[in-house]
Amino acid sequence: MSNLNIFKIGIGPSSSHTLGPLIGGNMFCAKLKDKINKVERIESTLYGSLSLTGKGHLSDRAIIWGLHNLTPKELDFTLQESIINRALKGRKIKLANKKDIDFSYKKDIIFSKTFLPLHQNGFELKAFDGDSNLLEQEIYYSIGGGFVLTQNELEKQKNNKQKTKSKKMPLEINSAKDAIKLCEAKGWNLAQLSYEYELQFNTKEEIRNYCFEIWEVMQEVYYNGIHPKSLYLPGKLELKRRAVGLNERISLTSDPLGIIDFISLYAIAIAEENASGAMVVTAPTNGACAVIPTVMLYLKNHNVGFSDERVIDFLLTAMLIGSLYKKNASISGAEAGCQAEIGSASSMAAAAMATVMGANVRVACNAAEAAMEHHLGLTCDPVGGLVQIPCIERNAFGAIKAISAARMAMSRKSTPKVSLDDIIKTMYETGKDMNIKYKETSLGGLATTLSNIC
Ligand code: SF4
Repeated sequence: MSNLNIFKIGIGPSSSHTLGPLIGGNMFCAKLKDKINKVERIESTLYGSLSLTGKGHLSDRAIIWGLHNLTPKELDFTLQESIINRALKGRKIKLANKKDIDFSYKKDIIFSKTFLPLHQNGFELKAFDGDSNLLEQEIYYSIGGGFVLTQNELEKQKNNKQKTKSKKMPLEINSAKDAIKLCEAKGWNLAQLSYEYELQFNTKEEIRNYCFEIWEVMQEVYYNGIHPKSLYLPGKLELKRRAVGLNERISLTSDPLGIIDFISLYAIAIAEENASGAMVVTAPTNGACAVIPTVMLYLKNHNVGFSDERVIDFLLTAMLIGSLYKKNASISGAEAGCQAEIGSASSMAAAAMATVMGANVRVACNAAEAAMEHHLGLTCDPVGGLVQIPCIERNAFGAIKAISAARMAMSRKSTPKVSLDDIIKTMYETGKDMNIKYKETSLGGLATTLSNIC
């Protein structure tokens, strides 16, 4: 399976809680196909973490947009608002953009405190005809990073992991150990390995065009973040956006650490765009969407510069490392805490930065390992169920750790004791042991300490 979609163009604030339900709504429209004319009502039930933090993460709205069969690229802010106004005030939705049906927010969106068995982020969609007969139903799981599987698909995936191996491709990369072996046998770095891997699924042009589109959108998001339409973020915290002020005050000074202010600016601007529900690149999740573009902007503006080839190499390396977390652990805060989101993004960025600066596979894997090692145990406790505190600043720290990890790995002369595979396994085990309060439920940590401010 190609790893290109580790990066996808999505909308904020959450890949699992916003983008996932939106994609689920699209999938349900496809499932309804020729039954659409018979449908008179859709009932959506959000379970587990999707229910507990769904309002702050706009999961309810995302399902409504998804049932209009609209994609993130089509959903600009004006269209988002007009659909929601019509649903809430006009009590109508346009199913699959084809048929108007009645809608009642109270009756048709159900927030259930129960957790479904296969994953913390489950939701069920049901379609009824005018006599309340059930026409179709499906349970979906939003497994992180905007990836959505039906109940059957997730069951199969879990069984396959335990029992059988899926169809073999000539180039298989299931672990960092595989990556090191292949690179050393062929004389490749991680970017070259990832490129050869992707050529099994995509043409050269598709890979290049995809990477350029992702990089272009990342830069557009940063620009939007320093030129926002509103100076405040949406939601009950009433947070004032900080990137605009930072951008006005920032300048290169003789202070060698002044560069850190730029890194903070890039990360805060992009993460604030995500928090506002605008378009971002999911990388590998929305909550952590600023880490990778921040490191890329740092390299472009303050370091080696960014030729087209470096852009491609950076993204190819990052997606390969991201795929190892997705395959062998998790990139979902609801499943393994924030270490799986900011930690994975930081690890991906560290390996990518080291690679474009000339690191071989072992050094790049060491950079990825170090970046995750120092995110282990990081909980997910978004205040008010919004992707704002601690998420926005956390992206800046994730980027700074990625840069430090890349630099440390590149100047290291000793052999590391901990491998990237060790740390991926440890992150997942730590995530499984983590109390549910700290896994995107807003039932613990900062979310409860600061419950008085929201
Ligand atoms: S705390 Fe981390 S994992 Fe949780 S919502 Fe914020 S960025 Fe995502």
